[in-house]
This record gives sequence, structure tokens and C-alpha cells, in this order.
Amino acid sequence: MERINIFNRSIIAGALVFVLFFMSDSVSGLYAQGKRSKNANDASEQLSPADYRSKNFLIHTDLPPAEARDLLERLEKMLVIISTYWGSPNRRVIECYVVKDLANWPPGSLHPAGLRSVASGGGVTMSQTTYRGRQIIAAKSIVYATSSRGTPQHEAVHAYCAQNFGRTGPVWYSEGMAEMGNNWKVVPKKGQPLSVSCERYVIDYIKRSEPKSLNEIVNSRETTGDSWQNYCWRWALCHLLATNPNYAARFRPLGLGLLMNKPASFNQTYGSMAREISFEYLFFLKHFDQGYRCDLCQWDWKTKFRKLNSTRTLISKIEANEGWQASRALVEAGTEYQFSTDGEWKTSSDAESVTAKGSDEGLGTLVGVVLIENEDNEYELSEEFELGESGRFQAPASGKLFLRCRDDWHELADNSGKVTVKITE
Ligand SMILES: [Zn+2]
Repeated sequence: MERINIFNRSIIAGALVFVLFFMSDSVSGLYAQGKRSKNANDASEQLSPADYRSKNFLIHTDLPPAEARDLLERLEKMLVIISTYWGSPNRRVIECYVVKDLANWPPGSLHPAGLRSVASGGGVTMSQTTYRGRQIIAAKSIVYATSSRGTPQHEAVHAYCAQNFGRTGPVWYSEGMAEMGNNWKVVPKKGQPLSVSCERYVIDYIKRSEPKSLNEIVNSRETTGDSWQNYCWRWALCHLLATNPNYAARFRPLGLGLLMNKPASFNQTYGSMAREISFEYLFFLKHFDQGYRCDLCQWDWKTKFRKLNSTRTLISKIEANEGWQASRALVEAGTEYQFSTDGEWKTSSDAESVTAKGSDEGLGTLVGVVLIENEDNEYELSEEFELGESGRFQAPASGKLFLRCRDDWHELADNSGKVTVKITE
């Protein structure tokens, strides 16, 4: 199945104009994962659908007025974030049918495809784009969505893309970014939101699953609306690429290329960094949770590492609010090294400052790990080991020594301070 379903392509007589119709998300039970219960128990209010407008949205909905206005506000906030991200202001009001209870909608008031999607607990965006030659001269999307679980936000990202770029991109990108939009709830002071704020079930599902490979996510012929599990993987990949500075600078132009139908592909963009992305992707899946920051945990691929000897001391500064950082030392399995530290840090804004020895609970302890290049030429990590304030340690493997201040991976942002580490043989 093609990534975009073309239902009709008609050439209007006499003019080089053609019209494309396509749908994103015929999601049957997309979020079925334990998220269905809410409406069932509500004493369902009998509200006929009414219209609500804001700058960028027109919604027809049977939500109570206060909830409808609240939804409009959230949609507007999200639109600021996504239009800033893609650098393109929204050109046309996005029209949405948002359904709380289908019983409130008279027969025939919803498009049959929209009705089907809503009845199955999801949403769909139907788009019509009119081209003259390769140029879009008109684009209009209509969203049909259940009111719950961020479905209107997800669909509104598709509608924004379709109306402003004429397409929503390949499935992995289109659905991954729509899920990102759904999770982008706060407008930051500058730039885009960076911390993980997805639904709990996404984290639980990914944590208990075998990681899906990048190649499977990006290159398999997956279709929109296939399964909520696939949406989790697409979100995870897009989140990593959009928020990890090692990859973010290439991700935006890649996305714009995909949206504007220019020659662009994941493999072309990231082929030369395939090993690094695979490593950081698996690392992200292992450690992420609500609040995790890919920018703080990005891997340092640039710093040069050197072998230690009896006359060479290597000095590094390790920040409390970052993930693994380069010690600059190449170590050898089984060899003992000496180290000392200077400085204090904190593992939350209201914690006491501690040295690299850490607190009694083991937070704030200086810990190390060795980055290994294995026989298959892939990166992997040794077991983590404790260093503390000063002393000796034995390297558990041969490779590059990385250090960090021990704290929960998703709670690094509020840490402060740094420690200087000296290592000799
Ligand atoms: Zn979607």
C-alpha cells in the first residue's frame, strides 16, 4: 500500500490543474491500549454539536463549551510550536470535527470515513490538494477525531502539513511528528520543547519490548493507522532526531525535504552516522522516561581520546546535568588507573552539594563506563562502575572512558555544578 492513498486524481479539462485526495491515519483502535474507558462511564451530556473558532481553527464539536474552548487554546499553542519548528506560518484555518459522543451527532453529519475512524476510537485527516503543474494552488484538510487522548492534536499536525506543504511525508515521519505535536504542550521561551512528555503507555510499551530497528521503522513499507505500537516507535525515533543536537540540525531540512517532495531520505541524510545513531537510539530507548532530555544526554563523538602513561595526566570537567561525558582517556581492560577530583555538585535544585563521593544514597557519585567498538564494528558500553572522590580503578574493558554524576537519567535537568577529574596511570 502506498504511503498516501490517492483516491482520485482528476485533470480538469483545459487547464493543467489536478487534484489529489489523501488521508492520514485511518486509525482503527490506534490508542486502544487501556485508554478507552473514559467516555463510557461519564454521564453523557446531551450536547448538540456547535462551532467554535480561534485564529487558526474552526472546530465543530459536542464537547461542553468550556472544554471546547480549552481544546482550541491547546491547539493554538501547539500550532505556534509546530509552525515555528517548520518555519512556515499556517495559511488556512484548520477545520476539525471533534467528537465526544457519537450519539450527539445526527445521521449524515459526519463523512463516512470520518465516522468510521471516530467510531473505532481514533481519527483521520482528509486532505485535498490542488496543483498547477508542481505548484500547490489550494490545499484543504478536514480532521475527524475523538476528543480524547490527544487525537485532535495529532490530526491537526497532519492537517497543518497537508495544508501548508501539500503532503504529510512518509509514514514514519508523518506519524512520528504528529505524535510529537501531540506531546508538545508547552511553548518554551525559545526554541522547541526538548523533554520527553509522552503518554505513560508509550514508555511502558517501549520498555518491555525488543527494540525495533531503525531500518524497520524507516524503510519497511508500513501504512498509516497500522498499530499503536508502530506509532510508539515512530515517535521515539522522531523525538530523538529532533531533540538530540548530534542529529537535529539535519533532521529539520530532511523533514522539510520530505514534506516538499524534494529528493531527501533518511539513509542519505544519516548514512554516514548510521553507527552513532543506532547506538544513541538504543541508549535513548533504554534510559528515557518523562522529563528525559536528549540534548543533555547526547553522546560526545568529537572529543579526542589519548592513551595514558606514567607521565601523562588527563584532565576533564564533568558537568552534573549531563549524561556520559568524555574523560579524554583511552583505557585498557584490566589496567589500574589513579584519579582525583575537585569540586562539588548537586543532583537537584534543593539537594545539598556533594563531592564526587556522592550522597549516602549514592546520588552524585562519580561513575564511569567504557565505550567499546566491538568485532562487528558497532559501539557498545561496558558495565557502569563507581569511581567516587579519589583513588584507583580497574578498567572493565578497553576503549574510551566516559564519566558522569550519578542521578536518574530523566532527572538531570535540575542538576548543577561540575567536578574536575584528573586521571593518570
Ligand atoms: Zn496520524
